[in-house]
Amino acid sequence: MKKLVLATRNSGKLVEMRRLLEPTGMTVVGLADLPEMPDVVEDGATFTENACKKAETIARLTGLPCLADDSGLVVEFLSGRPGVYSARYAGEGASDADNNRKLLEDMTGVPPERRQAAFQCVMALCLPGEATHTFQGHVAGVILNAPQGEGGFGYDPLFLVEELGQTMAQLPLDAKNRISHRGQALRQVLTFLTGQSNGPLTAKDADS
Ligand code: IMP
Repeated sequence: MKKLVLATRNSGKLVEMRRLLEPTGMTVVGLADLPEMPDVVEDGATFTENACKKAETIARLTGLPCLADDSGLVVEFLSGRPGVYSARYAGEGASDADNNRKLLEDMTGVPPERRQAAFQCVMALCLPGEATHTFQGHVAGVILNAPQGEGGFGYDPLFLVEELGQTMAQLPLDAKNRISHRGQALRQVLTFLTGQSNGPLTAKDADS
């Protein structure tokens, strides 16, 4: 059985990533299953720096292949914020509701044509003994004036996907995965993993 550690404690991300990875036959382990692993401080200036740091730290400590995602919301009117601070936009320990409230406050009075935003994702795949590989995804949208929808996590209820006329929180999980920043990056990871001649997840690396 092939095993891949997902370097995240975010249950929303874990659900989305499991849905795409498990049909390949991989066993996916999250950090909730590995309580001895430390919290990796996300102090990079970019999504790429943070994703690589998480993947490389957890791969070194576990000796297993590790995939890390760093992602967030980039709002044009806010000069790219919250960006790498998306998880703690309203302060350390902020909840999704706190962050959404702050975003709405910061966007008060901003007209519809100036509310463009994007979710961005960088995935870093660290296979023991190899250089880290990175993959990117991006989805464009608009920030609403009030939340809509109950699904997803984070900023999903405020993020309207204009072509679909629905927020990310109104889309079923499979529909979100088809278009999302994380879905795009993860499909590239899957193509990479399945395209390697011997498969990078060898029995030596992955069995346990
Ligand atoms: P990270 O765990 O440091 O990558 O922080 C990611 C943060 O960005 C999350 O806590 C959310 O606030 C936001 N985010 C990332 N991806 C999504 C998504 O798919 N939907 C909604 N919010 C997201």
